[in-house]
Parts: sequence; C-alpha cells; structure tokens
Amino acid sequence: MKHNDMKINIKELSKEELSAFIESLGLKPYRTEQIINWIYRRYAESFDEMTNLSKDTREQLKETAVIGNLTLLKTLESKDGTQKFLFELEDGELIESVLIPDNERLTLCISSQAGCAMSCGFCLTGNAGFKRNLKSYEVLDQVISVMRIIRDRDLSKNEKSGHHITNIVLMGMGEPLNNFNEIVSALRKITGLMKFSKRRITLSTSGIIPKILALAETGLGVNLAISLNATTDETRSMIMPINKKYPLKDLIKACRQFPLPPRSRITFEYVLISGINDSEEDAFRLVNLLKGIRSKVNLIPYNPPHIAINNHAPKSSARSSHFSRPSESDILAFKEILLNRGLMAVIRKSRGTDISAACGQLKADYTGGK
Ligand code: SAH
Ligand code: SF4
Repeated sequence: MKHNDMKINIKELSKEELSAFIESLGLKPYRTEQIINWIYRRYAESFDEMTNLSKDTREQLKETAVIGNLTLLKTLESKDGTQKFLFELEDGELIESVLIPDNERLTLCISSQAGCAMSCGFCLTGNAGFKRNLKSYEVLDQVISVMRIIRDRDLSKNEKSGHHITNIVLMGMGEPLNNFNEIVSALRKITGLMKFSKRRITLSTSGIIPKILALAETGLGVNLAISLNATTDETRSMIMPINKKYPLKDLIKACRQFPLPPRSRITFEYVLISGINDSEEDAFRLVNLLKGIRSKVNLIPYNPPHIAINNHAPKSSARSSHFSRPSESDILAFKEILLNRGLMAVIRKSRGTDISAACGQLKADYTGGK
C-alpha cells in the first residue's frame, strides 16, 4: 500500500488533470480519451484490461499510477430484490451502497462518509458514530463498482440489452454536505465523465445551510433533498441535533433561495415516528412551512434498527429505542392532510428491511461470510 500511496490515482483526476498527466508521460493526447473510456464506461479495474494501449504504455502507466478500486466484501439480497453491497476501503473502513429496483427504475443509494457525525436519534448510521470522510474516488467507485457488477451479471446471463442504473441518490451513510469538496468532485465525474444525467441524481442533507447554498453555486444542477423530519424547532432539535445550529426557519429560507430548474422540486424527507412528529398539527404545520416552495414530501415510516445500537449519540438526542412506526391509518391520515392542501406527498415503501438496507439501517458492520 505504501508503494501505491506514491502513485497517482487516476480516479482522483479531473479530465484536465488526466490530460496533463498523460502528456507528462510523453503519450499522445488521444490516450486520455481512451483511458477515460476504459475506466468510466467500461469500468476497467486495471491497466492490463486496456487492450488498445501497447504493453509498454501499460507498463509505463503502472509505474506511475493506479486505478483505485473499492473491495467488495459482501453482497446481500433482500426478498424484495433490494441488494446491499458492503465495501472495504484501503484503510479497512467499511461502507455500504444499496441497489433498489422499482418497476422501471433502478436506484443506487451511495454513501458519502464512513459513519456520520450528526447523531440523529432515529438513525443507526448516526448512532454508530463517525469514522472519516470518503475521498472522491471512494464515492465515485461505488457507482463504477455496482455498474460493473450489473454488467458482468448480465453478460454471464447473456442478457445483451442489460440493466442500467436510472437514478443515483446520496442517501446512504454520512452527511454529504459535510464532505463537500470530495462529493462535488465525485459528482463532476459522474455527470461529466460517466455522462450520468444530473436530473437523475439527488443529494440528501440534514440541513447544512451554508453548504446548501454552496451546492447551488457549483452549478452541478443535481436535485436536493432535505431531511426535515419535524415541524417545530423543539422536536427537530430533539431528534436532529444539527437543528440547534441551523434551525428550521433558516433552513426553509435557504430552500427558498435554492435555484430550481423548471419543473423540478425540492424533496422533503419526513421520517414518521409515532407520537413524536406524526400528529395532525404536525401535518398542518408542514403544509404551512412549505408554502410557496416547489416541493414534494417523502413520508418515510420509521424503520427500527435490527441490531443493538452503540450509544454514541449525545444525551440531548432522543434515542431510537423509544421510537416506533405509526399505524398504517395514522400514516395515511398524515398524507391525506398534505394532499388535501395541495402538497405533493408519497409514502416511501421500506425496501430491504430484512437485510438492514432500508433508510436509517446502514451501519456497515462485518461479521464475516459472503
Ligand atoms: N445524511 C443525509 C443523507 C442520508 S439520507 C441526510 O440525513 O439527509 C438518510 C435518510 O433516511 C434521511 O432522510 C433520514 O431522515 C432517513 N432515515 C434515517 N433513519 C431512518 C429510520 N430509522 N427510518 C426511516 N428513515 C430514516
Ligand atoms: Fe447522518 Fe443522515 Fe443519519 Fe442524520 S439521518 S445521522 S445526517 S446519515
């Protein structure tokens, strides 16, 4: 590994940087496009796969550069078709990505950090604590790795037309806006070099206000989702400590300032927790809060953790052990209030609960086996 540290990781380079690197090796400029094609469209893991480069060129590249790849440790498949991938990073940290088929959609949910420092009381990732930020290639390579896995499966089944990821959501482990530069750099490669449509990418945040506005300024144009989860500062601060720093009023103001392309909306995620944030008054307050914002509300019935939690969350954050999911009729009643007052609202089905792949269940613990 030490040896590799000295080398350039091709997946960390922008197109311009790769181009300069190729030139510095005395190679022809068109090699840049060939290498991009191999890595971002054919998901090559090594220079040896790049058969249109001469052996000498491949050796030259190997001496100075590496292609950083995540190590897939384990794949789990739910009975509903959801799949969870456990990846190991170079330093042994673990992250998870989740692939969710839903009719014609195939959504990949990726992680932005190993763990999360935000300590939201209802979220297992938050309860397990923060390990470190992901590097941009570690964010990017979740997409590349899963695309490669899907392609190779299709090839082995002789399915030529193939399955394709239609949507990418940054809703896995971690707070993406607390890892801003690496996330932006990964997204630039996903939209630029992989040519994945920005309209089909959604970044979800617990509400880091300055970074929401900075995200708008990047011009990346990805969709924004806000984990709102409460309609008063009192309740929100209790379940999401970040609200003490960035309270509701300011968060909603930032959403109003967020430039939205025509026909698009900000998604507001709302984890429904029985007796905490699911009252009729909450529904009415939610309608008022979002007045005038082009929004859609994703109601996510609370998913309980499957495994014992480490209590790293501060005492001020309410504990998941006290939480439960509202009844089906309470969930529907909440949604009806929103719909009747003109808000767009859907209840998000819990997917992959049997493999702990649903919202708030990602913890990336490894107990061996494949
Ligand atoms: N950290 C970012 C991205 C992760 S998204 C964020 O919080 O937005 C994870 C989503 O799952 C968030 O909308 C969060 O509110 C939701 N979630 C977390 N724990 C949950 C649980 N136990 N049940 C249902 N949804 C949960
Ligand atoms: Fe972190 Fe999001 Fe979980 Fe909160 S909900 S702890 S911000 S991953």
